[in-house]
Amino acid sequence: MTVMIACPHCHRKNRIPEDRLSGEGRCGACKKALFTGKPIVLDTASFGAHAGSDLPLVVDFWAPWCGPCRQFAPVFESAAASVEPAARFGKLNTEDEPALAGRYGIRSIPTLMVFRQGREVGRLSGALPSEQFRQWLKQYL
Ligand SMILES: [Zn+2]
Repeated sequence: MTVMIACPHCHRKNRIPEDRLSGEGRCGACKKALFTGKPIVLDTASFGAHAGSDLPLVVDFWAPWCGPCRQFAPVFESAAASVEPAARFGKLNTEDEPALAGRYGIRSIPTLMVFRQGREVGRLSGALPSEQFRQWLKQYL
């Protein structure tokens, strides 16, 4: 079994054996680490590659002016550090990317969405404390 994951640096798709899915892999194109333990900054160009990968992609739709979003940011970052490589984490600035936010009908922020193989599998509106966020996340891993 192989899994398709996108590189966090150049966003090229990499196919790697499932049993080698660890934090150690490197991108075949740019040779950088496939996992960094940090959320990726997503934009329209990179979104599709990561949402379409075999790993769950957890997206934080946020904006710089949103207080609850800023409060939630460290919770999201620490989840990325401990949950990778079981999932990929990405941040989508809805001010920079209004078309993407519109496509997914984001009405309030923060909104968290989980994608897998291009499909939405989960959605949650509002910031959660760390423990509840991890609990919610578990069902998608
Ligand atoms: Zn790369």
